[in-house]
Amino acid sequence: MTIGHAYACPEVLGLLLTSKCNISCRHCCNDSHPANSESASLERIARLIDEASEIPSIREVGISGGEPFLYLRLLKETISYARTCGYTSSVTTNGFWGSSPAAGRQLEELKDAGLGAVNISTSPFHQEFLSLSKILGAAKTALSVGLKVTVNVVSTSATEIDDVRGAFDELGDKVRFVVMPCLPAGRALTGVEQQEFPTDFTWPLGNCREHFKKLAVDLSGDVYPCCSPGGFTEPLRMGSGHRSTLGEIVKASDQNKLLAVLESVGPGFFLPFLRQQDNDGEIPKRFSDQCHLCHFMLSSPKYAEKVAEWAEMLVSDLAALPESERPADNSRLAGLKEFGAQSVLPT
Ligand code: SF4
Ligand code: SF4
Repeated sequence: MTIGHAYACPEVLGLLLTSKCNISCRHCCNDSHPANSESASLERIARLIDEASEIPSIREVGISGGEPFLYLRLLKETISYARTCGYTSSVTTNGFWGSSPAAGRQLEELKDAGLGAVNISTSPFHQEFLSLSKILGAAKTALSVGLKVTVNVVSTSATEIDDVRGAFDELGDKVRFVVMPCLPAGRALTGVEQQEFPTDFTWPLGNCREHFKKLAVDLSGDVYPCCSPGGFTEPLRMGSGHRSTLGEIVKASDQNKLLAVLESVGPGFFLPFLRQQDNDGEIPKRFSDQCHLCHFMLSSPKYAEKVAEWAEMLVSDLAALPESERPADNSRLAGLKEFGAQSVLPT
């Protein structure tokens, strides 16, 4: 089965390789730590990569964890298999391997196997274990073998992003920076102090269109529409890779109204309704970003149920508009059967 989409098509298949990590950051969204031993099997990874061919928009396999470099052989086999199927690969790491000669040789081998890019994560929480100079060394090592390097900075209320960039000054524009705020999800719920979370937004706006380009499959085989730390909530779970193929799961999601609203409007649509329901004052006054709001409302069964109702309501209200005023873009929203859209997907 091959499917095609008119809306935000997944371009990256995000695979969690392991929940084991050599460190245990206080903010870790999936509670990784050294005592974990769970990892994916190559057989399961190969099946997922095979199934990715059902989604023609996918062109990259993004490997993360935990710390994927703890399973070097599996990492290399995953990258090789992805290449035989025509995909380039990237890996997200904490960069603990730094600038050692052995790290350079390993990265060279991974590059030869098909690795194209390394994303190195850092934050004040990572830096309790791994210094910025170690990360700088890791970035240099990856660059030296010809890999693309992105530094993912998880920011707190105290983060001065210019200071972090300054630590990489000598690399000029060879390194890309992506800043993502720390949000209260996973271990951060208990491991991070309230005042450490950034609280930049009273009403976080922005839709999920770009985020939905990266599909995530966790270690239990559950599939989610984004790789954000806030996105691993039950209402966002698109299906189980044990029961359906990736293509079937993505195809079924074209009529998912919650995803349609998030893709076009974002979770901020729901906030005014949530505030009206907030008799106990339990809704945060400020948020790190839209994913914080999303995680808050969808990890609470009480609010998640209301959110599903409000998504239905928005779709019904839009469907009642004259045809000329309904969504007509190439969004998942415009493709809902409520708007009389003919699915672009073969049945
Ligand atoms: S945030 Fe990353 S580096 Fe830190 S414990 Fe979790 S997986 Fe490991
Ligand atoms: S708002 Fe929710 S669905 Fe959208 S990217 Fe963030 S976590 Fe994912």
